[in-house]
Amino acid sequence: MRYSFLSILKNGLSGQSGWKPAWRDAAPKPAYDVVIVGGGGHGLATAFYLASEHGIRNVAVIEKGYIGSGNAGRNTTIIRSNYLLPGNEPFYEWSMKLWEGLEQAVNYNAMVSQRGVLNLYHSDAQRDAFARRGNSMRLAGADSELLDTEGVRAMYPFLDFDNARFPIRGGLLQRRGGTARHDAVVWGYARAADQLGVDIVQNCEVTGFLTEGDAIIGVETSRGPIRAGKVGLAVAGSSSRVAKHAGLRLPMESHVLQAFVSEGLKPMIDGVVTFGAGHFYISQSDKGGLVFGGDIDGYNSYAQRGNLPVVEDVAESGMALMPRIGRLRLLRMWGGVMDMSMDGSPIIDRTPRPGLYLNSGWCYGGFKATPASGWCFAHLLATDRDHATATAFKLDRFRTGHLIDEKGVGAQPNLH
Ligand SMILES: Cc1cc2nc3c(=O)[nH]c(=O)nc-3n(C[C@H](O)[C@H](O)[C@H](O)COP(=O)(O)OP(=O)(O)OC[C@H]3O[C@@H](n4cnc5c(N)ncnc54)[C@H](O)[C@@H]3O)c2cc1C
Repeated sequence: MRYSFLSILKNGLSGQSGWKPAWRDAAPKPAYDVVIVGGGGHGLATAFYLASEHGIRNVAVIEKGYIGSGNAGRNTTIIRSNYLLPGNEPFYEWSMKLWEGLEQAVNYNAMVSQRGVLNLYHSDAQRDAFARRGNSMRLAGADSELLDTEGVRAMYPFLDFDNARFPIRGGLLQRRGGTARHDAVVWGYARAADQLGVDIVQNCEVTGFLTEGDAIIGVETSRGPIRAGKVGLAVAGSSSRVAKHAGLRLPMESHVLQAFVSEGLKPMIDGVVTFGAGHFYISQSDKGGLVFGGDIDGYNSYAQRGNLPVVEDVAESGMALMPRIGRLRLLRMWGGVMDMSMDGSPIIDRTPRPGLYLNSGWCYGGFKATPASGWCFAHLLATDRDHATATAFKLDRFRTGHLIDEKGVGAQPNLH
């Protein structure tokens, strides 16, 4: 069934009785051409593009819980393509372009909202760095504008411009950046992939691999073995755990990242704002809650919940930026497990085990990458060649030294 104005009208007039489940709850078959492990945004997008762009439809997405129960359903929904380095920026801009056509491509309202992402700067040195990043974005075909204090004041007059420690000098604005509803992205890709014949197998944990010599020829799961021509891992924070079953030790650490939502307010922040003097970013959901977050918890963990010191740290940063949120009540907070790579950039590559492919290392920025990640991983799985925008995301770059150190902080996963 296609979702359209007519289908809404028809169902509205017939007691909403005509809707079908958005996707089948498939049971695993004994064999597939491609098995994708992980039913987050990246795994589902990969399956969708394998089917839609490469005609490979004998595909299963194997998810240990329910789809979207990982980081895909826990993030703060920000999408943007404001990167500096040549290894990253063309990829994220490609993702941005895919976001712009996503709802048409999957026939699903993902609430893609290009409300603008503003990164604030607080010193001359930071302004220069942002100017350089903005130029790099424009070279890759993205949009960027460097605002001065008055430009920012016109957009967000309630910020603490004259803060004694962190005065706001301006910001780098990407108007095409914004937010998208994370669950809807998962559901949209799942429904569209399902309609092309992809099996979405939930409550099925991958516990090992089927092997023939060095090659990976399938997966062991809690619901029995499944053979596969190729296996793609897209398990985000569980990457190191799952890859370990194949004897691989990844250049990766898992850390917890928390997010927060406040009680609902009248419209107050119509874009996304990030603080440049501490780790804090904020937007407002369509329901009115302020959605914000900050740094990772800073120690290795696989727990999907965080600890109180980061709550205090995020609240302090928030107060330094916009003191008016001081009397706000927090409604909920939660955590997700991040796949922090050594240089803060992702991996879309083959592994040393023939037949096994890896999509990982998204740190806390992988939601915005969802469409391009799926597109490029599908391209790799289908053709065994890197997609033109993802050639730098190699697994062995930590050995060869070709790092993509976007923040310039070196091999420090907790700092990216
Ligand atoms: C609090 C928070 C805020 C964030 N904010 C942003 C943001 O604003 N913008 C942005 O770009 N990014 C953000 N991110 C990062 C982004 O959410 C992730 O980088 C991205 O979602 C990771 O890809 P994914 O969606 O495929 O991962 P996931 O949704 O985590 O998918 C991986 C799936 O693999 C499954 N799995 C694991 N092990 C197995 C197994 N053995 N067998 C079968 N299945 C398995 C898991 O259950 C999970 O569903 C945020 C993350 C968090 C936690």
